[in-house]
Amino acid sequence: MIYWDHAASTPPYDDVIRTLTEVMDKHYGNPSSMHQLGGDAVKLITRAREVCASAMHVKPSEIVFTSGATEGNNLAIKGAALQYMSRGKHLITTQVEHASVYESFLQLQEWGFEVTFLPVDSHGCVSMDSITAAIRKDTILVSIMHVNNEMGAIQPLEAIGAEIKRCNSRTLFHVDGVQGFGKLPVDLKTWGVDLYTLSAHKFRGPKGTGILYVREGLKLTPLLTGGSQEFGLRAGTENTPQLVAMAKAIRMAKERQPIFTKDVSILRDRILGFIRDIQGLHLHSDENGAPHIVHFSYPGMKSEVLMHTLELQGMLVSTRSACSSKHTEPSRVLLSMGLSNEEASSGIRISLGDSHTEEEVSQLEHALRAAVEQLHPLLERGRNGR
Ligand code: PMP
Repeated sequence: MIYWDHAASTPPYDDVIRTLTEVMDKHYGNPSSMHQLGGDAVKLITRAREVCASAMHVKPSEIVFTSGATEGNNLAIKGAALQYMSRGKHLITTQVEHASVYESFLQLQEWGFEVTFLPVDSHGCVSMDSITAAIRKDTILVSIMHVNNEMGAIQPLEAIGAEIKRCNSRTLFHVDGVQGFGKLPVDLKTWGVDLYTLSAHKFRGPKGTGILYVREGLKLTPLLTGGSQEFGLRAGTENTPQLVAMAKAIRMAKERQPIFTKDVSILRDRILGFIRDIQGLHLHSDENGAPHIVHFSYPGMKSEVLMHTLELQGMLVSTRSACSSKHTEPSRVLLSMGLSNEEASSGIRISLGDSHTEEEVSQLEHALRAAVEQLHPLLERGRNGR
């Protein structure tokens, strides 16, 4: 089996697994306990926070550990909206955000906030004009993802950050950075980002852990109350093994990012090339997108059918974002990009990691050509109503 679903989750580094089990075994004390084992755990967490901060070029006091990006996005968006609602009740996001962002805004709408959902162009990018037009005096937060998890579009965050602050210096800027970190350069200060979400299992760390960067001086209303862990922003006993293992992974992801971008782009370009060449397939990603995501459709053929045909040949690809894969209606993200219903219902995502090889890409090409050849008669019969 060859795993082509790195945007859904990545295989943890061996070192991450080793660290996880070691810390679980030896450092099980509760960091809030006053005895030696508690103190040991505090030291480990303090060090993990420093490592994460250094990988992101921010201060340790700006790192809030979470259970992953779903929690991070919820805390950033709802926490900021509730904290700053006296300034205004207008919020901005895009139509192509991950469900954990999108649904948070829908909930805020129900709670009486006004939300503008910005459209995207056929490449999945928001236009600067639409941002300029949307920002108002009472806009408290803009949330825009770095890299789209379905088709890999990269948003121009530096220009967006500058435009937000030019229009309203008090408007906060949140970025869901999940699909960008370790894949592309990240520069929170230059982008003018106030809140930034990460998830460890997307950069070869453990599942169920992540980071929310909260710029110094910013307050959030906590969603989980209880103990005073994580600067009072996220109550609950710290998950020492996961945090230490995440620190290992983030350091490696940061160090390897330039190589990842370069090497994986080469493989991605080969994949784009043969998809363009196979008759019947429509390509929805391009060379300007993220290095690790290729999205295409086979109009007329349900995504699941092509996915399972490829699986029988040992290729594990995805039909859409893993978090929405159980939904039956066409993807909201793809429809927002202007894809037809037929294209959006027949989408396939291939997502790469740094362990893939040229040989594996050749095997993928072979499998895809064979699958399309095998399914073509079925498609024709369906079209002719037989
Ligand atoms: N945002 C994006 C862009 C994602 O791709 C994902 C994971 N599918 C998430 C948020 C949610 O991350 P987690 O799995 O850590 O909750």
